[in-house]
Amino acid sequence: MRESTDFLVIGSGIAGLSFALHAARHGEVVVVTKRAAGDSATSWAQGGVAAVLGPEDSFSKHADDTRVAGAGLCHDIVVDLCVREAPEAVRWLAGVGASFSTNSNGDLDLGREGGHSERRVVHAGDITGREIQRALLEAVRASPNIRMLEWHMGVDLITMSSFGGPDICVGAYVLDEERGVVDTILARTTVLATGGAGKVYLYTSNPDVATGDGVAMAFRAGAEVANMEFFQFHPTVFYEPKAKSFLLSEALRGEGATLRLPDGQAFMARHHALGDLAPRDVVARAIDFEMKRSGSEFVLLDITHKAADFVRSRFPNIHAECKSYGVDITSEPIPVVPAAHYLCGGVTSDLHGRSTLPGLWVLGETACTGLHGANRLASNSLLEGLVMARRAADKLGGLIEGLRGTPLPEVPEWQTGSAVPSDEAVVVTHNWDELRRLMWNSVGLVRTDARLRRAARRVALLEQEIREYYWKHLVTRDLLELRNIATVAELVISSAASRRESRGLHYTIDHPDTLAEFASDTVVKRGVLPHLRERRGAAA
Ligand SMILES: Cc1cc2nc3c(=O)[nH]c(=O)nc-3n(C[C@H](O)[C@H](O)[C@H](O)COP(=O)(O)OP(=O)(O)OC[C@H]3O[C@@H](n4cnc5c(N)ncnc54)[C@H](O)[C@@H]3O)c2cc1C
Repeated sequence: MRESTDFLVIGSGIAGLSFALHAARHGEVVVVTKRAAGDSATSWAQGGVAAVLGPEDSFSKHADDTRVAGAGLCHDIVVDLCVREAPEAVRWLAGVGASFSTNSNGDLDLGREGGHSERRVVHAGDITGREIQRALLEAVRASPNIRMLEWHMGVDLITMSSFGGPDICVGAYVLDEERGVVDTILARTTVLATGGAGKVYLYTSNPDVATGDGVAMAFRAGAEVANMEFFQFHPTVFYEPKAKSFLLSEALRGEGATLRLPDGQAFMARHHALGDLAPRDVVARAIDFEMKRSGSEFVLLDITHKAADFVRSRFPNIHAECKSYGVDITSEPIPVVPAAHYLCGGVTSDLHGRSTLPGLWVLGETACTGLHGANRLASNSLLEGLVMARRAADKLGGLIEGLRGTPLPEVPEWQTGSAVPSDEAVVVTHNWDELRRLMWNSVGLVRTDARLRRAARRVALLEQEIREYYWKHLVTRDLLELRNIATVAELVISSAASRRESRGLHYTIDHPDTLAEFASDTVVKRGVLPHLRERRGAAA
């Protein structure tokens, strides 16, 4: 099947849905999303959205906190515009129908999180993301200009040479899972909003959809990708093998929870002046260090000194979830471990979400705007998705009429080398497992040159195996995700290897100092990783 639209949005989290709502004022929007529409990291966000709304707060304090976390790599202009546009973005969300927690005066209740010098986190209890996703989805479903295609997965971007000039993006090939076929969707503008890539690591706080598809697709199509070595590990994910990726919000520590060793000893004061409120990379590495030092499989997060009623009403979801696994957080500490949480790098974008590939725009966690630098300040990512979605739609609103003047091109239908269903799905499962374990063990919180070299060799082999398998078999979601994860792994490793210093989230034992000569973004373009230069059918 082949269809066309003004705006093709790939992904239905905060970035994709916000963009769709703004863009629907200017033209037709098709949103494709690879599972159910509510399946996103956005739905899982607990803490909230950072915005200067309190009387003691100021834009300069929010900007300074963002820059301190970003360890010298934040782009000032992006920090300033995101911070200044944050209050309006929150008001827009409330206008769309998101209901946030208020205090006894009826004002927004502002939470405090690690790295923030003021209370500025707008939240809906501890299910902020679920509330935002609900409100956005309801608005999207009510909009006559937006069509949502669930269980439709972006496979590859379609690029065309523009009269001998650079390639332009004119849409995407999209796998319709129900029909098992790959459709062609042409678009005047294609927007990647596919979220993060936590699934590249064995342990992650992210939902299953976070397989870095947007970064991999954009990279294959020739867009520039940056800062992939800066992967944020959330310090506190519930340590319970049966609980899948359940995160214990930093707001717990913001409200006074203390990290302790299993013997009850508090340890964060040994690692940072801010103690339990230190930036999350410091906390995650401290936990990793203390676990390795003590041989413990977890540490404890303790909020039992707070009144039980307060804990239950401030963290109803966390309380209920832990209780369902037998831990009553009002009376006993919670076992926790660090896990891969947030991708600070991604597809390079300008101040309006434009990538370096003409026709391709990129938003949310998939993008690298320069806001986060080498480390993200908590609750700045929902904010970034909101602000950049509006900026992109406003810019495109002024361009779309002109774009309609050029007819969309004829493009070939999707083809794989050979469309044979595989009877060896186990190959996919094994490679998934091996790749994620390798990334966890060798490219995790603490890196070394030798570990990165070993990881690069292993991933190159796996990538080749996956590529050969890919071109010989019918595409499935699992196979496509594996292919994307392999690309993301290569990008993380090569970026980490090229940064011969420690900065923000990238910490390497071999180069422990932060060096002025590395105070710039790590930019990767297609061609830098030669074995990734694939042509459709080449390996068949
Ligand atoms: C547990 C948890 C708690 C968090 N808490 C906070 C918080 O309190 N505050 C904060 O600011 N940030 C928080 N974050 C981070 C924040 O939630 C994410 O960065 C943000 O929601 C990303 O939004 P997004 O729209 O870019 O992506 P997502 O919300 O992840 O949405 C991506 C969408 O793209 C779809 N998709 C992916 N690949 C494809 C494909 N190939 N084809 C079609 N569709 C595709 C997915 O199915 C999904 O619909 C948290 C993250 C997690 C995991």
